[in-house]
Amino acid sequence: MYAAADRAAGSVASPRAVLYDAVLLDRDGTLIEDVPYNGDPEKVRPVPGARAALDRLRAAGLRLAVVTNQSGLARGYFTGEQMRAVHARVEELLGRFDAWLVCPHDDADGCDCRKPAPGLVYAAARELGTTPSRCVLVGDIGRDVGAAMAAGAAGVLVPTPVTRPEEVAAAGWVATDLPAAVAEILRRQQAVQPSTPPTEPVRTALVVRSDSAGDVLVTGPAIRAVAAGAERVVLLCGPRGRAAANLLPGVDEIIEHPLPWIDPAPGPVDPEAMRSLSTRLGAVGADQAVVFTSFHQSALPLALLLRMAGINRIAAISDDYPGSLLDIRHRVPVGVPEPERALSLAAAAGHRLPDGDEPVLRLRRDAVPPRPADVGDPGYVVLHPGSAASSRACPPEVATRIVGALADAGHRVLVTGGPDERAVTARVAAAGGTDLGGRTDLAGLAAIVADASAVVVGNTGPAHLAAAAGVPVVSLFAPTVPFGQWGPYRVPTVRLGDAAAPCRDTRAASCPVPGHPCLSGVDPGDVVDALRTLAVSGGGGR
Ligand SMILES: [Zn+2]
Repeated sequence: MYAAADRAAGSVASPRAVLYDAVLLDRDGTLIEDVPYNGDPEKVRPVPGARAALDRLRAAGLRLAVVTNQSGLARGYFTGEQMRAVHARVEELLGRFDAWLVCPHDDADGCDCRKPAPGLVYAAARELGTTPSRCVLVGDIGRDVGAAMAAGAAGVLVPTPVTRPEEVAAAGWVATDLPAAVAEILRRQQAVQPSTPPTEPVRTALVVRSDSAGDVLVTGPAIRAVAAGAERVVLLCGPRGRAAANLLPGVDEIIEHPLPWIDPAPGPVDPEAMRSLSTRLGAVGADQAVVFTSFHQSALPLALLLRMAGINRIAAISDDYPGSLLDIRHRVPVGVPEPERALSLAAAAGHRLPDGDEPVLRLRRDAVPPRPADVGDPGYVVLHPGSAASSRACPPEVATRIVGALADAGHRVLVTGGPDERAVTARVAAAGGTDLGGRTDLAGLAAIVADASAVVVGNTGPAHLAAAAGVPVVSLFAPTVPFGQWGPYRVPTVRLGDAAAPCRDTRAASCPVPGHPCLSGVDPGDVVDALRTLAVSGGGGR
């Protein structure tokens, strides 16, 4: 049984095992119609449905703050007194807010509070007695979403006619209007809470997550939730996810077996191997099975094997009709972050994170070895150019220029990669970093990542190792799968790369577009700027 006391110590802001404590709202274009540099309370017009939507959040116990850029103050277009009158009128129309956070600066001031800098989000979380990762910010432009992500908060974009298409493409979470954003926030909050506890106690739970390291890592919170409600947890994983499975808290025993309907390069189905897997799963003696999958994978073939093994309580997400293969058929809309998607399945199966645990990625501390002494003191930046799927890897020539730019900006750079990526890491590191290609297994890489100031990485396993360590990520994210589902979870992040590139949503393993345009256009200077936004300085400190 996994209990709160087994957990790694962390920043636990609230004992309630829900996603959010607070909703932060941009002002102009989000709560009220955008009247440029408005100093006149008579011109305040709420967007349609704003009052009712905000009252729903208040009724659900969420605290509310306004986070707003008001450069009109710096430019002298209105006075502080006029702004306060406007805010009084906003509260008259929309009800009270628990906090107001205003950036009075201009872009030229270089402050750390003008969105997309994360300063207002940090300040709002502090004032509301919570942490950024327990906040969700709603705004109408890319600056709002950028500020949320850079602080490790969730960001919902509610586009207006002036929102640029590239801002919409880059956002991981888009809602049609404020009431729709509020409805989805409340739905996601509710979805990780079981409506009823399990009807019968669970002695042994069999949880399943096939596929690769990243998939296993993002399922960690859901597995901890199951573990909190079961005496023993057995995890079935595939060979590519085994090293990650070893790192997960709450897992008592691991069974490794490839599943040909999940593996991207499957061998033929061997009837004898399937029969022996079914027998082996039956021997686990599970009184419940929870089968976790990605949005494009089917849980049903395994459900059949589990039925044949005599397991009679099976839960899984399935859009396809499951007949009598599932006892709990759960469904999740597209766009939900993978960790929350899995947590909602655990909830449907009657499980939730124990009070005090946070819905964040975590690793077993005893499974991560000490960091090798020869990599130097903490405070370096890790650049991990490769990926299991080449469509999600950073082109080596781009990675090389990034290393050069980071070194010029005073960063110590460690270049990491697997044994089969040594040629690339050597070439990339030659531009001014230290080559660690092939030096570590996944646990060793986790140790190196944990002491980094930031990790520069594509959509691949080490991004999730960074999230598990709370280390900020510069995400070179190929849009082959949705960023909102696969982006680094609940950790300060800056997303780079062309989110609207033609590979978008293709799920391609190798880039289908000549020149790999989604990442080949990344400007190394933007990586340096991203680290500045994440408050990672070139002096080695954080
Ligand atoms: Zn500011």
